[in-house]
Amino acid sequence: MTRQWLADPELMCVPHRNAEHAETHMFVTKMLNSTSLQGYRDNSQFFGAKYLEFRHNLLTFYLPNHQTPIEITELMETKYPLVHPNYEDYSDSIITLMDRCDNCRIKMVERLGIKWSL
Ligand SMILES: [Zn+2]
Ligand SMILES: [Zn+2]
Repeated sequence: MTRQWLADPELMCVPHRNAEHAETHMFVTKMLNSTSLQGYRDNSQFFGAKYLEFRHNLLTFYLPNHQTPIEITELMETKYPLVHPNYEDYSDSIITLMDRCDNCRIKMVERLGIKWSL
């Protein structure tokens, strides 16, 4: 499933960082094809073209051999306006990652001191 996470990439495992990076490029393709991304927005998985650019560039800090810049056009920004994530979006994103992935959870529990029991 294509989605953008809201977690600090520092607290994500390498496969999740890499997958999210690949998914930012998939979202660009969807925008170029004028695909509706409303469903992703409604599910807190996409926050507009500008957020996508921010997230992509943030993730590239963790990809030393990155060679796939993205280009966000004004038309994309108009069609896919920025949606500021709210508290629920952040907590949902982080809880979903911790729930799905042992390696992300271990990093988050260690670094953030989150108490987590299954
Ligand atoms: Zn890239
Ligand atoms: Zn993970």
